[in-house]
Amino acid sequence: MSRILIAEDEPGIASFIEKGLQAAGFSTLTVEDGRTAAYAARDRDFDLMILDLGLPGMDGREVLAEIRGRGERMPVIILTARSGVEETVAGLEGGADDYMTKPFSFEELLARVKVRLRERGTSEPLQLEAGGVVLDLRTRRVQVDGREVELSAREFSLAE
Ligand code: CA
Repeated sequence: MSRILIAEDEPGIASFIEKGLQAAGFSTLTVEDGRTAAYAARDRDFDLMILDLGLPGMDGREVLAEIRGRGERMPVIILTARSGVEETVAGLEGGADDYMTKPFSFEELLARVKVRLRERGTSEPLQLEAGGVVLDLRTRRVQVDGREVELSAREFSLAE
């Protein structure tokens, strides 16, 4: 059973994610602030972390910097209330594997969790190619016949 660390300070969202993941057969631990998240992530038993960017104590980017800084490689999916491209890019550059912009559907989050867990520990390519379309699963960039195109998170998931 995969173990997932959820760092989210909004109780409604935290319980929505937690209940959904548990119903899907995952074991979860939910923490509500950045310091506890960074501390809990030291437990190597976690297979994946869902990390809200806007956390009290230490924000999500600081948590990410700390855990990557000590060589922790578990996949991290960041949650952001801000649809700002800057935060998202900073998160991905800071070592996040994927991101979700709130509000999101649980089905979409679950699909991404499964993709990241599947990739973990494998040397599978992180991009998908078909008919001139290339999806980079890490950066979430899309190229069609060599030209970059913009897709929303939902469109990207559907394409994937
Ligand atoms: Ca928050």
